[in-house]
Amino acid sequence: MTAMSDAAERRAELERRAAEWRGCQKCALAAGRTQVVVGAGNPDAGLMFVGEAPGFHEDRQGIPFVGQAGKLLESLLGEIGLSRDRVYIANVLKCRPPGNRDPQPDEIDACEEHLFAQVELIQPRVICTLGNFATKLLSGQPYGITRVHGKPQPHRIGSVELVLYPIFHPAAALYTPSMLDTLRADFAQLPELLAERPAVPEPVPVMDVPAVPEREPEYAQLGLF
Ligand code: URA
Repeated sequence: MTAMSDAAERRAELERRAAEWRGCQKCALAAGRTQVVVGAGNPDAGLMFVGEAPGFHEDRQGIPFVGQAGKLLESLLGEIGLSRDRVYIANVLKCRPPGNRDPQPDEIDACEEHLFAQVELIQPRVICTLGNFATKLLSGQPYGITRVHGKPQPHRIGSVELVLYPIFHPAAALYTPSMLDTLRADFAQLPELLAERPAVPEPVPVMDVPAVPEREPEYAQLGLF
């Protein structure tokens, strides 16, 4: 299978799964939502952001991070030369908890398979977890964001080898200038992290692979082949 058709199939599968998730009834949040907020952005992105759960505006519009926290996220992305259409954005929970309360353990348990499937289909090189809930779920560790923010962790989710990069949730930084400075400094490391994890190169079609030259004994000794 070529890299192109592989990517096209992953995109199509993501769409198929998203259509299923839009009817999800796995937890009690289904009763109070306007709609399921699956995720948004580029399904081939090397960089994925994972937040907590949709809020009021996200629930209405069906798109993650469209409120105040989203505006801050967009502006921080702009500062490193990115925009939201070049990354993929999702949440731990796909439905809005009433009154924007914290996600409950049974809701996270019910919803996590959707997020893990998204990671498997998008295959990002770097996942930036925003705040405690995404960081704890995706790292599988109990450490809070204050302790681990700004520290990239090589990690495997399903079959995907990636770097997990926890940072503060933009909503927490909205009204606390010192936290905003930290968030901005952590964001500034992202371009380097992405450059360190280059995209998997496209496989060369078998017919085009140049013949391997016969080993000359002296080259073999030098370890060139
Ligand atoms: N906060 C989140 O964690 N996710 C959103 O989509 C919006 C606000």
